[in-house]
Amino acid sequence: MKIVYSLQPSSFCFGVEKSILGLATIIKNHPGEQIYCIHALVHNPKVTASFEKMGVHFIESLDEITDPNAIIVFSAHGTDRTIIQQAKEKGKEVYNLECPFVSKIYTEADLFIDKWIATFFYIGKEHHQEGKNVIAYIRSKGAKVYVFQTAEEIPEIPPETEIAVLSQTTLNFEYVQEILQQIQQRYPHAHLPAHSDVCKATCERQSVILQNLDKFQTFIVIWGKESSNTRQLYEIGKRNDKQTFYGESFDDIIQHPHDELLAHETVAVTGWASTPQEDIQKVVDFFVTNGYKEEILNLKKS
Ligand code: SF4
Repeated sequence: MKIVYSLQPSSFCFGVEKSILGLATIIKNHPGEQIYCIHALVHNPKVTASFEKMGVHFIESLDEITDPNAIIVFSAHGTDRTIIQQAKEKGKEVYNLECPFVSKIYTEADLFIDKWIATFFYIGKEHHQEGKNVIAYIRSKGAKVYVFQTAEEIPEIPPETEIAVLSQTTLNFEYVQEILQQIQQRYPHAHLPAHSDVCKATCERQSVILQNLDKFQTFIVIWGKESSNTRQLYEIGKRNDKQTFYGESFDDIIQHPHDELLAHETVAVTGWASTPQEDIQKVVDFFVTNGYKEEILNLKKS
C-alpha cells in the first residue's frame, strides 16, 4: 500500500506562534501607526508577506528608521540587548518578540558575564540572525567568543581556561551533545548548559524523523530558505539515504518531475517550525490524489 506520512510535530512551534500573535496584537493596538520589524519576524516569506500587507515595514537596521513615533518590533530570533536599548531611545515604543528559548541564552550569557567569565564558546552560525546577535551582545560586554559548528573545530586554547559554552537553539541536537561531551573532556573548567541550548521544538522535529526512518523511502521538507534549522531536517534525510526533496512551498515541490516524487511507496512530509501547516498539507494532499493513504506519525515520548 502507498502511504504518505505526516510527521508530527511539524509546522509552527510555540515560539513562532507567540511571535506571530504578538505582532498581530501590536498592529491591533497601534492603528494607523508606522510599525517597523527588525529582520523577518520568523523565517517564512509567506508570514512576512502577510504582515507587509497589514502595513508592517521589515528592515534590517535601526538606521533605516527616521520617524520618532516609530513602533519598533524585534523578531523571534532575538536581539543584541544594546540594540534594544538604542531602539528605546529612537522610537515611540519597542516590543521584543523573541522566543523564550532564545531569551534563555541571553540570561545564561548574563549569568556567566556576572561571574566574570571572559571566554565563551558559541556552537552555531556566526551569520545566522540568532547567533549574530548573541555573539555581538557577549562581545559588547568585553568577552572573547569563539564560534564554531563541529567537534573538529573546537578551539585549541589553554586547557585550564574557564569557558562558558552556549549554542544556537536550532542545531542538530545529537551533534551538539557530541560537541559538548568533547568540550567537557578537553576543558575541565568549562560551564556547559544542562541539556544544551537546542530548543524543545527542534529536538522534537528531529526526533520524530529519527524514530521513523524505517517507515519511509522518500522524505519531503518544506522550509523557508533562510531557516538554517530546517536544513537540519533535510540533512537527516540525506544522511540516511532517503530520496529527499525540499522547497519553500507546494509550488517548489511540484516543480520536481512527478515520476521522481512518486517513485516510492512510502513518503514522509514535514515542515519546520516557521512553515505554515497549509503548505505542508498541500504536499500531503498531492500524494493522496495520487493514490497514497495519509497517516499521521506522532513523536513517541521517551
Ligand atoms: S524553533 Fe525553537 S527557538 Fe526557534 S522559535 Fe521555535 S521554539 Fe523558539
